[in-house]
Amino acid sequence: MRVLVANANTTEAITELCAAAARAAAAPGTEVVPATPRFGPAVISSRAENVIAGHALLELLAEHAGRVDAVVLAVSHDTALEAARQLMPCPVVGMTEAACLTACMVGARFGLLTLGGVETYRELVGRHGLSSRLSGLEGLDATPQDAVRDPAAVEAMVLQGIARLVQGGADAVVLGGAALAGMAARLNPRASVPLLDGIACAVKQAEALVGLALPRPRAGSLAPVSARDSGGLSAPLAALLREATGLEPAIVNDAHAFALSEARLGAGRGHRTVLGLTLGTGIGGGLVVDGTLWPGRHGIAGEWGHMCIEPGGRRCYCGRDGCAEQYLSGPALERRFRALGGTAPDLAAIAARAGTDPLADQLLAEAAGWFGQAVGAWVNLLDPDVIVLGGGVSRLPLWFAAGRAAVARQAMALPFETPILPAALGDSSGVLGATLVGAQAFAPA
Ligand SMILES: [Zn+2]
Repeated sequence: MRVLVANANTTEAITELCAAAARAAAAPGTEVVPATPRFGPAVISSRAENVIAGHALLELLAEHAGRVDAVVLAVSHDTALEAARQLMPCPVVGMTEAACLTACMVGARFGLLTLGGVETYRELVGRHGLSSRLSGLEGLDATPQDAVRDPAAVEAMVLQGIARLVQGGADAVVLGGAALAGMAARLNPRASVPLLDGIACAVKQAEALVGLALPRPRAGSLAPVSARDSGGLSAPLAALLREATGLEPAIVNDAHAFALSEARLGAGRGHRTVLGLTLGTGIGGGLVVDGTLWPGRHGIAGEWGHMCIEPGGRRCYCGRDGCAEQYLSGPALERRFRALGGTAPDLAAIAARAGTDPLADQLLAEAAGWFGQAVGAWVNLLDPDVIVLGGGVSRLPLWFAAGRAAVARQAMALPFETPILPAALGDSSGVLGATLVGAQAFAPA
């Protein structure tokens, strides 16, 4: 069995200390996998730091989801415990939680001892519903650094604290905090009541839970989360959130998603018929009528990349000849420039030479002509209220000047008044469109 021992702060030394304590407690055959978050506080000493560490911790767990059999949170605050339990496909155990619950199994009442303040522990014990089993708390005037620098002195202080807790009615004492990891095993022979180490208890509880093989709840507060939109998360965490929804994905073509978001939220807003065209590594498009995507019978509406604009022309990967994508995509334009004898690092550099480099002028004139032919056909077929251009290649000014004039020459409309506008939502338009499709697919009936 593989048990992930996940620190919630970014101090590697604490991760190593906890991993060593975990290995000492683990049964033969249990592999301890230590992990430290990518970002967050070096030490968690405030509520804000704890929340930040919670995000970092969930991200860390998501990276290991499906590859470990259980998770031990190696953080005395049991940071993000319930969220991790809801999200992860395996048992998740908090070290303070595990120590307190185990203490309840060896004593009627337990005490808790830690370095520094005790109020967060009082709160945590309350959160776990164990306040009535808590006899008292001891916060020693020492730092985790002291415990590393002079372990003997700190151990002597710990023994005195334990004695005070026993006097106060403790039948067992939890040593709280990752900095005390491993100390319980050393001090147990010298203490008058059992001492409980959070990491050791958590590893043993994790092993027990894996052995019990309980199913995950499908109802109640820890049931998988329902679909929620979020942005900016790491890919594994976003994937885990999607997985945890238990819903089948809705699928939309990226160019359709682009057209939908630009029609509803972007440059096409307020227009009834919006033609969204993407020009980039490939080219694509989508038609939106009255705010609704028009996918077509086969879901291919808007595939103008494979509209033939030169019969018998350039060979396309789709097996046909003369497809628009072989003339208007970024790679096609760059290939054509090289074929004309030009050299340039990229398309933007070529466009910047307009008026000074005859080869660049020739390429741009050809591109405008092809654009006019393809988009002019769109206009004659659908007469959209607005055309929105997106994708990396659409940033060239060419399309909105010479390109537009070429469209006007092909269009039957006199005068040609259809606005051709740059996308308003930037690189997010595809993701926003997918969100709109998802919101519609998963809206309550
Ligand atoms: Zn093609």
